[in-house]
Amino acid sequence: MIEAKVFEISGIVQGVGFRPFIYRLAKQYFLSGEVSNTEAGVCVKIEGEKENIDRFYKDIAQKKPPLSLITNVSIFPAEIKGFKNFLIAESTNKNKNSKTALIPQDVSICSDCLTELLNPQNRRYKYPFINCTNCGPRYTIIKDVPYDRRFTTMKPFKMCDSCFAEYQNPEDRRFHAEPNACHVCGPNVLLFDNRKKPIKTQDPIAECANLIKKGYIVAVKGIGGFHFVADAQNNKAVFTLREKKKRPDKPFALMSRDIEDIEKFARINNDEKNLIESLARPIVLLKKKQTDLLSEHIAPNNNYFGVMLPYTPLHYLLFERQNFTVLIMTSANISGEPIISDNNKAFEKLSGVADFFLIHDRKIHIQCDDSILKKNQYNLETIRRSRGFAPSPIFLNKKTALILACGAELKNTICITKKNKAFVSQYIGDLKSFAAYKLFEKTISHLKKITDVKPQIIAFDKHPDYLSSRYAKALKNAELIGVWHHHAHIISCIAENKTDEPVIGIALDGTGLGTDNNIWGGEIIIATPASFTRKAHLSYAAMPGADAATKEPWRMGISYLYGAYGEDFLNCNIDFLKNIDPQKIRIIAEMIQKKINSPLTSSAGRLFDGVCAILGLKNKITFEAQAAMELENIANPKITDFYKCERIKKEVCQIPFAPIIKGIVSDLRQKIPVSDISAKFHNTIIKIFAELCIEIKKETKINKVALSGGVFHNSIISNGLISRLKNAKFEVLTHKQLPANDGGISLGQAVIAAAVMKKK
Ligand code: ZN
Ligand code: ZN
Ligand code: FE
Repeated sequence: MIEAKVFEISGIVQGVGFRPFIYRLAKQYFLSGEVSNTEAGVCVKIEGEKENIDRFYKDIAQKKPPLSLITNVSIFPAEIKGFKNFLIAESTNKNKNSKTALIPQDVSICSDCLTELLNPQNRRYKYPFINCTNCGPRYTIIKDVPYDRRFTTMKPFKMCDSCFAEYQNPEDRRFHAEPNACHVCGPNVLLFDNRKKPIKTQDPIAECANLIKKGYIVAVKGIGGFHFVADAQNNKAVFTLREKKKRPDKPFALMSRDIEDIEKFARINNDEKNLIESLARPIVLLKKKQTDLLSEHIAPNNNYFGVMLPYTPLHYLLFERQNFTVLIMTSANISGEPIISDNNKAFEKLSGVADFFLIHDRKIHIQCDDSILKKNQYNLETIRRSRGFAPSPIFLNKKTALILACGAELKNTICITKKNKAFVSQYIGDLKSFAAYKLFEKTISHLKKITDVKPQIIAFDKHPDYLSSRYAKALKNAELIGVWHHHAHIISCIAENKTDEPVIGIALDGTGLGTDNNIWGGEIIIATPASFTRKAHLSYAAMPGADAATKEPWRMGISYLYGAYGEDFLNCNIDFLKNIDPQKIRIIAEMIQKKINSPLTSSAGRLFDGVCAILGLKNKITFEAQAAMELENIANPKITDFYKCERIKKEVCQIPFAPIIKGIVSDLRQKIPVSDISAKFHNTIIKIFAELCIEIKKETKINKVALSGGVFHNSIISNGLISRLKNAKFEVLTHKQLPANDGGISLGQAVIAAAVMKKK
């Protein structure tokens, strides 16, 4: 029986090869009709045998293109019009229609393109910019909407006849593949030395691989920016990179050709395999194996390697030319600044580190670092959400106003909301760096453009000195809504879980301004998007030297000892105190006592720093969270013991650190190994916060607990707390796509601003 139907499909269905997919599917089932882009997504008018239409419908969900995401399909009966054929209808008003289309993220090379890349018979054999509708750069090359070649950085490259024929053919994999290119018409790679002198060679990639093999450091331009590339098995090269980059400790990311090579130096389970092979090709943190295959300077004092697979054709060609087991592939930047993406800037800023430059002439419109993920016992942890994920939306449980949220100051991201979607930007970084601040401004205007949003509400952190807050307050013609830092953390987490019911929120992080003007970060709050109340917190300690205390954990060590013992702390008789200049100790003690430049903090991050210092592990750090990571890495998993967990019940419950610090000092005096002490400390934090949740549940009947804040990137704390809370029958909410650290804050800010506006 012949029938006619209309399918309206919404989600990520434009610019991802969806219409040609529908076209091919309709042909396969002998159906006629047409497919067109609409404001909501894609509309399919279809006629044919009922059976075939049913099969067609089933296949849409099952066989959809890899980059597409279907959020809804509405089906309507239609009148039979007697279509003769199946057509892809040109959008009549492309401009208007495409404005609402979602801009896809950048994706790794697909298996079809990879096969062609390595096939000597193919016309794109060894072409480093091969791509198709299912793969290649998107977000980083798009300058405006609609997603069309003329609005991308591919504009200067005019397609040759062969490429254009593919581009126009609905049966071809490259139908409307905007970055489509080949040897004849597309971008090219070039090799230079660090004085910008071209290296004469037939094959720049092969020569680049040779140079890396010889131990040189090469700055290689990729999708979202430059990488420093070196042979990870060459100890001297890796050490030189550390020295030149002035990066003594922070781990370098690695790239291997395949899983088999990764297994030579890291443990990888099935979940991690799926993750590392996924289209986004993120860096995945994998447990190190004992091996001397790799340089010892890659991730010192760390139990993990950050590893990824090749994601551009160029990466594959590098591995093809030299049989590298593993390469260093670390973001090329000046310390503290965003990844560098522009050819001239690269020469200007990276010549002190890189010996050679492998560049290309396709411009990167917006920088995008590699994303970093980790598979945990209970959840998938995002540490940095960037290339491969941004700007794909996070779907919210309800429609919201047009909001721009400006994010935090460190690990900044911004967020724009529209209808039920939240567009969280790529990782921008620490706004105190001028280059990052420039990227922040550029990302805001870029994201506004590609989402076609003129924000009516601007949300920002209540910290008056954050550059993101200052930016927000200078904006005109919009409603400004300040949001408290830890409220934003918790609401970001629950928004990802599509709820807005009251939760018990545990926010553990480094720094964030609280309502009493102190620096919070060891908090339990009861929160809904519209409001929150503080229920408990770590008791306050001084931060002698303010910001300096975050970089120098020994200052926090002194502060916690002072807080626990008062002036008598000097009699503690532990190595930590013996190893610091007594003069310096006196100065710090005086600063605390006289409250000179020593703001108060309840931060869990600072407590980790202080304990790390007291244990004699680290007095100064060179990258954020380094102390906490070291403390985590040495913890002895067999220890189940803990320190005294006390609390002082007041209107807002306080968790005194003194009993913990005294327990640690006593253990140190008894020569208990620091790995045992570290484990006991972790166990104590877990126990206290879990017990407090149980007490709060009795009082409030709230059964949902949301976890957020940078401290949850500590696996012992997150796994331990989740497991304990689950045992106590709590529903535990954790971040799903966004990081628990300040990179996730912008979403929370937006959702809070929407709720506050509604109340007004
Ligand atoms: Zn492809
Ligand atoms: Zn071509
Ligand atoms: Fe934070």
